[in-house]
Amino acid sequence: VRPVRWLFGDQLGDTFVDGPDQRVLLIESRRVFARRPYHRQKAHLVLSAMRHRAAELGDRCTYLVADTYREALEQVDEPLSVVQPTTWAALHLVDTLAGERDVERLPARGYVTGREDFSRWAQGRGRRRLLMEDFYRDARTRHDVLMKGAEPVLGRWNFDAENREPPPKTGSLDVAGPWWPEEDEIDAQVRADLDEMAAGGVVFVGEDGPRRFAASQTEAQAALDHFVEHRLPLFGRFEDAMLAGDRWMAHSLMSAPLNLGLLDPLEVVRAAEEAYVAGEAPIAAVEGFVRQVMGWRDYIWNLYWYLGEDYRNENALGARTPLPDWFRELDPSGTDARCLSWALSSVREVGWAHHIPRLMVLGNYAQQRGWDPQELTGWFHRSFVDGYDWVMVPNVVGMSQYADDGVLGTKPYVGGGSYINKMSDFCGDCVYDPKKRTGPTACPFTAGYWGFLNRHREHLSGNFRMGQMLRGLDRLSDLDQLLEEHPDLR
Ligand code: SF4
Repeated sequence: VRPVRWLFGDQLGDTFVDGPDQRVLLIESRRVFARRPYHRQKAHLVLSAMRHRAAELGDRCTYLVADTYREALEQVDEPLSVVQPTTWAALHLVDTLAGERDVERLPARGYVTGREDFSRWAQGRGRRRLLMEDFYRDARTRHDVLMKGAEPVLGRWNFDAENREPPPKTGSLDVAGPWWPEEDEIDAQVRADLDEMAAGGVVFVGEDGPRRFAASQTEAQAALDHFVEHRLPLFGRFEDAMLAGDRWMAHSLMSAPLNLGLLDPLEVVRAAEEAYVAGEAPIAAVEGFVRQVMGWRDYIWNLYWYLGEDYRNENALGARTPLPDWFRELDPSGTDARCLSWALSSVREVGWAHHIPRLMVLGNYAQQRGWDPQELTGWFHRSFVDGYDWVMVPNVVGMSQYADDGVLGTKPYVGGGSYINKMSDFCGDCVYDPKKRTGPTACPFTAGYWGFLNRHREHLSGNFRMGQMLRGLDRLSDLDQLLEEHPDLR
């Protein structure tokens, strides 16, 4: 008998089944939402996508709602096959089940670079560091993306320098808005079910709202087509900028459907590459986008496995402060810092903010204050529509919080108000002054930057990339005053 393909809620595209007649099992596990507070819109998106997939598959799909996966699986006595799930916990569950019943385990799908290719790259001769840039170039070569023979098109691998412009002074980008879905009766049912769960005591964070991300392959394709045609040309230039009046700017919003498995990442990359070849989008925009999809995304996915299960517990800087309630509960009134309040509002309102508010506002603030990286990882995972364990463990523990002592990044991503001031339009209307580190209008990011350097001076002194910053700290005449005024930075 051909096994039934048991799909997890982030394996929803055709890539995860073998042919149009394979039978499929989907399980809605309610305990996931009962354990820790998820963002309401994240819960909605995942349930909506699973149910849209079930509707699409019709009779081919068995859809079970249960407290746990195990409880649901007791109702199924046929042989199962499973594509490698995306978390260590789910992988262990599948491995345990395979010792108890007939379960065929298949390699991961839905990523451009498989685990074997990654290991081969990582263990390659002379490789001392697992640098994203090296991995990305290797992947582009292997898949012949934006290449001319053995060389990158136009002779350059990296167009980052063109993709770091501050925001336009006009306060908005001259770009078409993102593609938005229309909710249907499946969404109405999901909303009713989540209301019922909430009434029964399940806690969600964030606002409910119209679903803003694709929940089916058809929707995901429409969103991709719209992005490539209307927004990709402007994607690169202002990629790192933030605008108070436009949280979406020219970002693709592809991470949510990609991480649900609704799009094949290599097809996404090819769509952008075709736009470049056709002369419809500049190389800097296309390269920047390709770098995100087959560079960063795959690098992070592979590191999640390659660095092992204990990597999530790294805490090299000994950061143990619990997240404050206002942050945990997405309450923007908990801070007067305009950029931080704005970023938190965005997460509260739509479960999304682009990579710079995540890294240089939310993550930066947490790192400066020594917040617990494990708690922060869980917060990012549950509060963002595109957040999953595999995404957030390396991104938060490594990239954002430097808790791995430099495995992912060569130095901590810590910045003061001057960075935020340069790359956004927040500071003009803020009660704080990005240039001040002491006094009543001291910017919490500027003070936080020096507080962080001071706390970790010794630890970071061996890192040559930190030399200039630490010398700046040595020249600071008002450090004592700063620490007195900001006890949370001591
Ligand atoms: Fe953020 Fe500081 Fe600028 Fe205010 S002054 S918006 S707190 S960076």
